Amino acid sequence: MKSSKDIAELLDEPACEHNKKEKSGCAKPKPGTAAGGCAFDGAQIALLPIADVAHIVHGPIACAGSSWDNRGTRSSGSELYRTGMTTDLTEQDVIMGRSEKRLFHSIKQAIDSFNPPAVFIYNTCVPALVGDDINAICKSAQERWNVPVVPIDCAGFYGTKNLGNRIAGDAMVNHVIGTRDPDPLPPGSELRGIKIHDVNLVGEYNIAGEFWHVLPLLDEMGLRVLCTLSGDARFREVQTMHKAEVNMMVCSKAMVNVARRLQKQYGTPWFEGSFYGITDTSQALRDFARVIDDPDLIARTEAIIEREENRIRTELAPWKERLKGKRVLLFTGGVKSWSVISALQDLGMVVVATGTKKSTEEDKARIRELMGEDTLMIEDGSPKALLQIVRDYKADILIAGGRNMYTALKARIPFLDINQEREFGYEGYQGMLELVRQLALTMESPVWQAVRAPAPWRSGVTKTALAEPVSDLQSQAA
Ligand code: SF4
Repeated sequence: MKSSKDIAELLDEPACEHNKKEKSGCAKPKPGTAAGGCAFDGAQIALLPIADVAHIVHGPIACAGSSWDNRGTRSSGSELYRTGMTTDLTEQDVIMGRSEKRLFHSIKQAIDSFNPPAVFIYNTCVPALVGDDINAICKSAQERWNVPVVPIDCAGFYGTKNLGNRIAGDAMVNHVIGTRDPDPLPPGSELRGIKIHDVNLVGEYNIAGEFWHVLPLLDEMGLRVLCTLSGDARFREVQTMHKAEVNMMVCSKAMVNVARRLQKQYGTPWFEGSFYGITDTSQALRDFARVIDDPDLIARTEAIIEREENRIRTELAPWKERLKGKRVLLFTGGVKSWSVISALQDLGMVVVATGTKKSTEEDKARIRELMGEDTLMIEDGSPKALLQIVRDYKADILIAGGRNMYTALKARIPFLDINQEREFGYEGYQGMLELVRQLALTMESPVWQAVRAPAPWRSGVTKTALAEPVSDLQSQAA
């Protein structure tokens, strides 16, 4: 189990901007912190997309049930990550002190059944409180079966989802990154006459396969992606992350500790960027070229940006006309708010307010930069508060996570899912086309007119009859 000193160190992240002020470090966990997703949830979200690993949740079945397979992350090959595995602890296991034994046997079963390149063990509240030594179990299982077994000590009560992301990143740097060198370049790649540069993306989850919109552009630029931590990643790719020339932190700084530690240990520079929206996508491509500092790459990148921007602006033009001036209430929980705001502004839409519950201080600063100092930042995501803002600010659509869907639909407000569970990918230039299509389809659906009209039994003759006082109807009958 992590000591309070370990947790304090993780919260005190030197790469966070707000850590340079007098009041340093992230807020300490308070009671109720885990209500919006606990540290275990955060760690599993961060690592589950590593597709060929056996992910075992060490704890009661409900922990695994809370998080398993509710993310829209896609794999281009192995589907092992979609098999939920848990030690399924019961009170009998706790009373009889056999939870460590169960874990050991679970690791064996996973290796025997699936032959994975590695096994990840996620600690949860119950075994952490009982005092299971998962580090020792993982070490002895690794020695016994000669397969890497990685402990991720992320009991839910340690704190928030963001802290869980950080714990996951820490585990990768401590146990996985740096344990293998990248494969040599495939024969023929040098024939293109350009120098190939190796890069990583940290915090890219390939939701609905959206990173596949961007990958061909990076390929054209001559960038080989050693690893995306963790969308569509493989264990052997994570092992090679130390060899990249540059790391891109995608959208949020939840795993900034990975980028910072790779810089410290291996001297790899990093920058933060996003692939949502035309402006941010172009900026991210430019930043790769700028940090690598290869004049040929810079020139080729500018040519690609110009070609892609021209193409996508032409294709977006008819859609933009339809969406221009529409008012949006954005409630993403905060993690990617600024990048989505920028994408919506590219489309000429007006973001009236945005959620910042899980935003870092840097995220909030960027939101202010995009929307102005007086922007409304929402901390209270209760259905009542959201609907009040929709009414007060005359929003045309609510863009939020899946859990807000029924709030919007019951209030007869157009709704678009923007979180991990969504079915559509919005990254890159091509993703913008999908985003406008989904926005237009949602807002222009004839269903809104139909559900906002009075019910048939409240209109016409029936309505008049119903409107008459009961006493009148009785006297007519007499
Ligand atoms: S790890 Fe703890 S807080 Fe998280 S789901 Fe399990 S019991 Fe709940």
